[in-house]
Amino acid sequence: MTFIKNLLSYLSLPVQQSINNKPVYIPRDKHMLSRKNISPEALQVLYKLHKSGYKALLVGGGVRDSLLKRTPKDFDIVTNAHPEQVTSLFRRCRLIGRRFVLAHVYISKEIIEVATFRASHKNNNAGIIQDGRIIRDNVYGKTVDEDAVRRDFTINAIYYDISNLSLFDYANGMEDLNNGVIRLIGDPIQRYKEDPVRMLRAIRFVAKLDFTMAPETAAPITDLANLLKNIPAARLFEEVQKLFLSGHAVKSLQQMREYNLFAQLFPLTESCLNDPIAARLIQEVLENTDARQQNNQTITAGFLFAALLWPPLSNLLPKEQAKGVNQQEVLFEAIEYLLKQQQKHVAIPRRIAILMQEIWLLQLRLTRPRRGKKKNFKLLQHPRFRAGYDFLVLRVKAGEQEVASEAAWWTKFQQRK
Ligand code: ATP
Ligand code: MG
Repeated sequence: MTFIKNLLSYLSLPVQQSINNKPVYIPRDKHMLSRKNISPEALQVLYKLHKSGYKALLVGGGVRDSLLKRTPKDFDIVTNAHPEQVTSLFRRCRLIGRRFVLAHVYISKEIIEVATFRASHKNNNAGIIQDGRIIRDNVYGKTVDEDAVRRDFTINAIYYDISNLSLFDYANGMEDLNNGVIRLIGDPIQRYKEDPVRMLRAIRFVAKLDFTMAPETAAPITDLANLLKNIPAARLFEEVQKLFLSGHAVKSLQQMREYNLFAQLFPLTESCLNDPIAARLIQEVLENTDARQQNNQTITAGFLFAALLWPPLSNLLPKEQAKGVNQQEVLFEAIEYLLKQQQKHVAIPRRIAILMQEIWLLQLRLTRPRRGKKKNFKLLQHPRFRAGYDFLVLRVKAGEQEVASEAAWWTKFQQRK
């Protein structure tokens, strides 16, 4: 099978992974997914649905990552119960989403996502398609077969059925899982047009799992990258967070740049990346973020975003300080302008934007002429001093030599007895 696919793509003939009419059935004793891999809360939800007479299956990352012997981030459940029926089964349950309605079931401190099987669109009120893009995806299906077609990648369409503990592989996902391949189900161009976020998901899984993209899945991305402009900026923020705050930020950026996706999300930053200092700053902050993630240290999204947007921000600031100009005011104006431009692409929530602003303003306070002991001690007490100082050190590491002596001064000042 792999040989034929590779041969077809070598010959530039269209290859397409379609859904198997009959899924590959893998009974319990022929696969490695055990109930021990599944969180007790997710199991509870699966069994409650099952005992209430509904179909209940695990799908997506929970199955995929368990089969890869990785700890899943979350467990996604699918059922033939409609969202209202799911709500009536669980005491703490909330329906969320408009584009894609699903139930959030709260058990202990966990949130388990329960989605109803989707079916193909009839362009009625529940499922709306505009210029090939799915605006609303709430046409419910009755069977897993219908649901499988709507999944994005083959490795995400392996279902674990709680009624018999078997796996159902609808799109040869097992083979791709074993070969480390990210492959879209169906016609890649159509699938990306339906939901351009799938382009970001494709590279995210490449980065996260260290997989490669099937040639036909990779081929259309660069040309279609600009479709991301139609996606609400808030949804893109969610995706950017997953790309950069999950321990694989360096690879995510490299992949995003390779496919022209970074320029869609951070155009102002992209235009600075020819500058080696800017490129090093971003590389450095992403490496730090990945290392912190691996060591289970806290990660501050504000710090990361402050770094991502520092190169375009500093380009907006005058290189020479004119006399009589209030530097803080100039900086404020530049920040306001920059954030306004950036928010058009990726919405940055207020609490994060506030932290970014504090870090940036501290750069000014940490590098202007010193004003006496009392003021220096006061700055040390600033709730964001640590973030501001770390940011200054990061800039020096990236090659901003002009602030090196200031950073060294603050390092020494903190070490004084
Ligand atoms: P992870 O949770 O580790 O980020 P995941 O694959 O579980 O990865 P989710 O966003 O939790 O990703 O989605 C769960 C499943 O829902 C996916 O595995 C996939 O089958 C389906 N899915 C999610 N987003 C899309 C999409 N944009 N288009 C098609 N199917 C999707
Ligand atoms: Mg998931």
